[in-house]
Amino acid sequence: MGTTNSSICNWQLIDDAKKILSDGNHTSNAVNNLLLDLRSRFNLNAIVVRQRISRPFSLRIMYEHVKNCPTKRINQTITYSEEDWNKSVSEYKKGYYIYYFDENKAPISGVIAKYKPQCILQLPYFSKGVFLGTLDFIDFEQPHDWSEQDIIILSSLRDLIFEDLTKLDEDKESKSSEYDKDYITGMNRYETFIENLDRAIPSCTIGNNAILVVYSDIHHFKLINEGYGYRKGDELLREYARQLQSGRTYIDACRVHSDNFIVAYQIQASDIDTTLRELEIEQKWLSLELQKCCPDSHIRICSGIYIIDNSDIDAATTAAYANMARKQSKQEKGLRSVLFSSDMIKDMKRRAYLNDELPKAIQNHNLVVYYQPKISCSSEKLFGAEALIRWQKDDGTFIYPDEFIPEFESNGNIVSLDYYVYEEVFRYQRYRLDHNLSVFPVSMNVSRLHLESNDILPYIRSLLDKYQIPPKYIEFELTENIYMQSIEPARKFISTCNDLGISVSMDDFGSGYSSLNMISSLPIDVLKIDKIFMKNETLSDNDKIVLNSVIDMAKRLNMTVLCEGVESKSQLNFLKDAGCDIIQGYYYGKPMSQTEFDKFVTSYV
Ligand code: C2E
Ligand code: CA
Ligand code: CA
Repeated sequence: MGTTNSSICNWQLIDDAKKILSDGNHTSNAVNNLLLDLRSRFNLNAIVVRQRISRPFSLRIMYEHVKNCPTKRINQTITYSEEDWNKSVSEYKKGYYIYYFDENKAPISGVIAKYKPQCILQLPYFSKGVFLGTLDFIDFEQPHDWSEQDIIILSSLRDLIFEDLTKLDEDKESKSSEYDKDYITGMNRYETFIENLDRAIPSCTIGNNAILVVYSDIHHFKLINEGYGYRKGDELLREYARQLQSGRTYIDACRVHSDNFIVAYQIQASDIDTTLRELEIEQKWLSLELQKCCPDSHIRICSGIYIIDNSDIDAATTAAYANMARKQSKQEKGLRSVLFSSDMIKDMKRRAYLNDELPKAIQNHNLVVYYQPKISCSSEKLFGAEALIRWQKDDGTFIYPDEFIPEFESNGNIVSLDYYVYEEVFRYQRYRLDHNLSVFPVSMNVSRLHLESNDILPYIRSLLDKYQIPPKYIEFELTENIYMQSIEPARKFISTCNDLGISVSMDDFGSGYSSLNMISSLPIDVLKIDKIFMKNETLSDNDKIVLNSVIDMAKRLNMTVLCEGVESKSQLNFLKDAGCDIIQGYYYGKPMSQTEFDKFVTSYV
């Protein structure tokens, strides 16, 4: 076929191309199909799409359909000198470039050149003035005589292809940012972290190389989100990430989820102790840095550390162990960083056991409500009781609340447990009323989680309705921490209880961060002074000074004062003189079963 002046393209080509490109759901397949169609339609030897890449002056062959040319060139990068690049781009700016073979001219370079192409039509693609690549039509056998109309139509086709490719790139980019990086901090994803750590673990040998896996988070981060808003929370996370990444060199670091971060540091085995000490200091410093983002809150970083000293463990397990140690660091006041120990696995199994067994324990009444008497100081008569849960196993042994309440508070199971306790108490009060036995107020503990859900007040109302208990026999205890952490829900809870005629106490007063100003602003009926003040059988002068002022303050605020944990006569005498109203403690009685409490009541009234 010789050269011809008539057009070989018509606009039908564009419609056909659009159809091919929109067929199927995979753009790169569609582009391949289109190139194949075009190559055979025009009987060309090759059609090539070259796209500009981030490497300077470089194009990469993204698609190519070649007849009689076995060399695989897809993904090949062609890098030009700056001069050649600029020359080509200024040529391309004219709209298109046609090369015709000429024995007298310098040959073109590259693999295609081996076949002495007779004709190459290059249609460059520019977007907003930036050169992004070319669509090349190559003929080895005879020169095509492309007409102006052919070039116009093929240029439209080129636009179609490049628009599709740009979209594909954007998709890839957004997918990679979505899938490969954390969208808040830009850190690697957890899966990538684990892959990188797995790759590094074989370097660990006892006494030689080690890796420290540090899993950390901000204690009560949720409160920061709630108090300052999520945008501030995100800002804090970004700063956290920045600080972690700008500190000591690491194998990898990532945000696992929420405010949970994990970092792996490669160190010499001989440096383990020093590094642990340094990390402790760095962590304090990190807390102070983050504090700057939220000056009014108390930022505490908690972390758990796992030391990899041999290669017999996989990365995911080390992360789980470091996380276990982190959880432990939260439970121990004042501790910021905890090293993993194998006891934690036992502890985890125990917690799993408790969570698994809870529904059965509720159903089988293995959870038993105990009652601890409260005695009035003035009359030395029974004033009421506090309901305290005990878990009685089938073998008769007990599990005490300190062993399971923190776990259930952290996973939400506390809600069903407490509802069970409330119902048991209401039923007990109903039983005493029905049997014309003297009835006393019984207080029940409330967890923060109750206040965060909207269920507790309707539930209490339903119990009042169901058992018809006069509200004066019901009391709820909220620890001072609850007031601090959930002030508004606490306020709502107290005011509804007040409306219902149920009294509310502040439990564990003096054990944490109490805000005296808060006490005066909340209509609390009873102040329960924490048993921490009763640590000495004979109170120290300083304890007495504090107790005198607390009792005095509560009385001025018209609150009833109860002191918990009273074990000795001398404590009792002091508290009576100081004006304390009610005593709860082993001195008068330990928490006891319902049957024992029934007997206690008879002997005390
Ligand atoms: P709490 O509410 O401060 O309860 C008082 C704790 O002090 C009880 O421990 C009680 O046995 C103990 N205690 C009372 N008098 C004395 C004393 O004279 N000396 C000493 N050393 N201890 C005394 P218990 O029953 O082990 O409960 C521990 C904590 O578990 C409770 O502290 C409370 O925070 C929580 N808890 C217990 N039962 C429940 C429940 O049904 N629901 C919820 N949410 N929490 C509960
Ligand atoms: Ca209590
Ligand atoms: Ca208490």
